[in-house]
Amino acid sequence: MTDVIVIGAGFGGLAAAIELASSGLEVVVYEAGPRVGGKADEVVIDGVACDTGPTLLTLPEVADQVFRSAGSSLADEVTLVQPDPAFRYHYPDGQTLDVHHAVDDTLVSVRAAFGEDAAGQLATHLDRARRIWEATRETFIFGAAPTFGRVLSLGPKAWWSLSKVDTHRTLWDVICEDVQDERLRWLLARYATYNGSDVRTAPGTLACIAWVELGLGAWGVHGGMHALATALARTARRLGVRIHTSSPVEGIELSGQAVTGVRVGGRVEACHAVVCNGDASHLAQALLPASARGAVGGAGPRSTSGWVGVFRAAVREDRAAHEVVFPRNYLDEFHDLFDRRRSPVEPTVYTCALSGAHGRAQWADAEPMFAMINAPALPADDPARWGALARQRLLAAGRIHRDDELVWERSPRELAARFPDTGGAIYGASSSSALAAFRRPANQISGIDGLYLAGGSAHPGGGVPLCLQSGRQAAGELLLHLGLQRVAK
Ligand SMILES: Cc1cc2nc3c(=O)[nH]c(=O)nc-3n(C[C@H](O)[C@H](O)[C@H](O)COP(=O)(O)OP(=O)(O)OC[C@H]3O[C@@H](n4cnc5c(N)ncnc54)[C@H](O)[C@@H]3O)c2cc1C
Repeated sequence: MTDVIVIGAGFGGLAAAIELASSGLEVVVYEAGPRVGGKADEVVIDGVACDTGPTLLTLPEVADQVFRSAGSSLADEVTLVQPDPAFRYHYPDGQTLDVHHAVDDTLVSVRAAFGEDAAGQLATHLDRARRIWEATRETFIFGAAPTFGRVLSLGPKAWWSLSKVDTHRTLWDVICEDVQDERLRWLLARYATYNGSDVRTAPGTLACIAWVELGLGAWGVHGGMHALATALARTARRLGVRIHTSSPVEGIELSGQAVTGVRVGGRVEACHAVVCNGDASHLAQALLPASARGAVGGAGPRSTSGWVGVFRAAVREDRAAHEVVFPRNYLDEFHDLFDRRRSPVEPTVYTCALSGAHGRAQWADAEPMFAMINAPALPADDPARWGALARQRLLAAGRIHRDDELVWERSPRELAARFPDTGGAIYGASSSSALAAFRRPANQISGIDGLYLAGGSAHPGGGVPLCLQSGRQAAGELLLHLGLQRVAK
């Protein structure tokens, strides 16, 4: 009988597998896809490997902690890349703004582009964003899933600092209070989309995302974000974890209210515990027997999906590692995504120059350029016009050349097919309401002994570092349940 079976080799699953194996447990991972990495996947086009998922690593210390539990470190396993400028924003009136890795450099850039007042407004907002991050990180990110009872038990000092994190106002209201410059408002509003949420309804607390990127920093990974997933898999294997790809788990076996095994490849493999790295909706709808589905809980409306493409783009000097091309009115995009549930009529296009951002190889005559447009999760319209729309927007902004070719694309519908029962939602449920953090499924499924959940749809939410933390949290709770300690090496 295996100690623990991990379903899925995304970041949450791999982090859990490493932490459990480093504490001496026997761990087997079953991954439905042909490779490890989940959403952090890559595609090889004419000999050049291109990322098709995440393109930016924040909070690298979380990945470092995972590697350290295995006696290694992030620096031992991958090389981080920090190109400058980090981001270039393109506005509809032709203005541009470069964002750098150090806040002070970004403020100098804002002062030069938009004036002294605008720089002061951004500094004010980032100060608020930093305070929110510092007040919330332990309660909402680096501990067990928050409950009202747990928050109440923290005592008056914690309540006082949590009362100042803008849960009762929307992120858009908070941004507008600090920042009068419309161009900076858009830049800051875009951080709501980092977990697929609506800036008009998400709590002001999400301002902390701006601090995480602009204040604490964002990195590329040499060889692409997929290289981080392969490094985690390599580390897991070193600890004895067996990883089986192209092996979808068909169901979880229960005896009464306790896990006894999984069904995979037409047979049952017995185990003491399961960590599911698939989406919470997949766990509830496809893996558990109907009688046990209620245990997972419903987390609320889905986060956004996205269209992703890769352009074979002529190399040019004026291309920043990450670029954002805004439409004429950015708020219309939220209206389309969340109210009308349709693809944005005039979408913002995000691009990542994979060579500049991640040291990815190029073709002899061109470089791979990742492009992304936010889209509603299904059910929603999913027109076949994504590629044409991205090309048109990037051409109009002068960010691609007429001869640059779209060589690969994936629609929200295709994303939904690759990750069953998600509707193509990238980050599980959205954080578009103040209660989202309390509704998100916990890492230990209460009511089913031996069942744990790790990944973007579980606590603490989506995005690479949070999914890694989710895996750490699930492993920590399982070890606690077994009376074992997390091993610090
Ligand atoms: C286009 C795109 C851009 C993004 N950009 C960023 C970014 O720049 N920065 C950032 O931090 N985040 C970004 N994200 C989000 C980030 O990639 C995800 O939050 C994270 O990778 C998800 O990790 P996870 O642990 O939830 O696992 P997932 O990546 O969801 O992987 C889960 C794995 O479980 C497997 N699985 C599911 N069911 C079964 C089953 N029954 N049997 C076996 N295996 C199963 C799946 O095949 C999959 O491989 C982006 C995502 C996308 C798609």
